Amino acid sequence: MKNEHPPVLVIASHNTGKIREFEHVFTPHWRIEPQAAFGVSEAAETGLTFLENALIKARHACTETGNAALADDSGLVVPALGGEPGLHSARYSGGDNTANNALLLENMRAFQGADRAAFYVAVLVLLKHADDPTPIIAEGRWHGHIAESPKGNGGFGYDPIFIPEGSTQHAAELSTEEKNRVSHRAIASAQLLVRLRE
Ligand code: IMP
Repeated sequence: MKNEHPPVLVIASHNTGKIREFEHVFTPHWRIEPQAAFGVSEAAETGLTFLENALIKARHACTETGNAALADDSGLVVPALGGEPGLHSARYSGGDNTANNALLLENMRAFQGADRAAFYVAVLVLLKHADDPTPIIAEGRWHGHIAESPKGNGGFGYDPIFIPEGSTQHAAELSTEEKNRVSHRAIASAQLLVRLRE
């Protein structure tokens, strides 16, 4: 009789790939619903950190739906560039992914060795309701470095110029399954599940 009516967990994202990934992780404990099913409006991402923006998105989805909500925020961080592209990862160049990659390679032209270090970060926030004072927070990091030029057709975003630690392949050369096993999002999801069970 358990889990006959699992609670609804709204995913504060429009990305169908992410929604499918979370469905896989949270079923049967939660009934996953995309925020589009409730007509949730776009949240203003005014935070200065990934955590703040994930909290803003989760709270916004709770407020508009009256359900628990899960939000994520992610991006690429290059310490030698003061954390850029960071929160601006999606819009770094004002153009598409290819333009973002080209701009990052250009901005890193003078950097070599350890200065080309970079990591992807994903922060997940689960709020049980809009006034929940104890959000469940998880963070995953995927370390590596920025290549000299793009390679590979898989993944998305900065994957063609990101070489994961311990690999000779660019992230865009990995299969989806391989990436989903080791990525920042995979690490954050696994951590969130542990926190949920605690
Ligand atoms: P969002 O959190 O889905 O909005 O992602 C923000 C941006 O970070 C994306 O548009 C990408 O530029 C970058 N990003 C986040 N995760 C990845 C990844 O796994 N591969 C490549 N780029 C990523």
